[in-house]
Amino acid sequence: MASPIESAWQYLTSNFSEFQLATVVTFLLHESVFFLSGLPSLYFERFGLFSKYKIQKKSNTPSYQDRCVWRLIKYHVCVNLPLMTASYPAFKFMGLRSSLPLPPWSEVVSQVLFYFILEDFVFYWGHRALHTKWLYKHVHSVHHEYATPFGLTSEYAHPAEILFLGFATIVGPALTGPHLFTLWLWMALRVLETVECHSGYHFPWSPSNFLPLYGGSDFHDYHHRVLYTKSGNYSSTFTYMDWIFGTDKGYRKMKALEEVGEMDAKNL
Ligand SMILES: [Zn+2]
Ligand SMILES: [Zn+2]
Repeated sequence: MASPIESAWQYLTSNFSEFQLATVVTFLLHESVFFLSGLPSLYFERFGLFSKYKIQKKSNTPSYQDRCVWRLIKYHVCVNLPLMTASYPAFKFMGLRSSLPLPPWSEVVSQVLFYFILEDFVFYWGHRALHTKWLYKHVHSVHHEYATPFGLTSEYAHPAEILFLGFATIVGPALTGPHLFTLWLWMALRVLETVECHSGYHFPWSPSNFLPLYGGSDFHDYHHRVLYTKSGNYSSTFTYMDWIFGTDKGYRKMKALEEVGEMDAKNL
């Protein structure tokens, strides 16, 4: 008997062509996951909710938040959608498939894990390059306009950077020739992860409290609030690349000082 996921997949593949699924439906899925996961932290900041867990004392004004949202919609429609449409033949060439049966979970999970590790590696070096003087000034400074990030700022970047990030995201799927289901799951998880990293809030239930090697909001928030030549913390998902290459020294020092401060406060 078909599982609910297989039935839903059957419905999709019999009502839409693979081209429609890989382009327009992928775009709509991305928009839904991105805005639904990103809007809560925007409203938390706007209405001062959960301020106890807000990482920075500073807040963005509502008009500065709205500016980000409108530019994102413009970039998504004018850059992301054409890019998804134009890259369909390339994906097809790489072995993209959408027919039933769905791949086994062992394949889906191992591929998605591989994509996260590879993306983090490519992102780390690309992001380090973006922090050199010329590239920072002309490209990456756009992403850093928001020194106090909120979830939706995760995708706020220069179009050239969107292309670069797009490459880091698809290099894993390109190497393995995935099923569209795996590709969608990867995209959704990557969006949720980057939105969480930019949320500006560190909750007791934040995933970095439970997942070893996962950076999360506290790790990436530091990257946004410190001067671009000194910030470090270049990885997108994990913490080990910055640890191996010594680009998390400033962050580790700050954490150590925070711990000493907390201990002193307890001993008073
Ligand atoms: Zn940066
Ligand atoms: Zn960022």
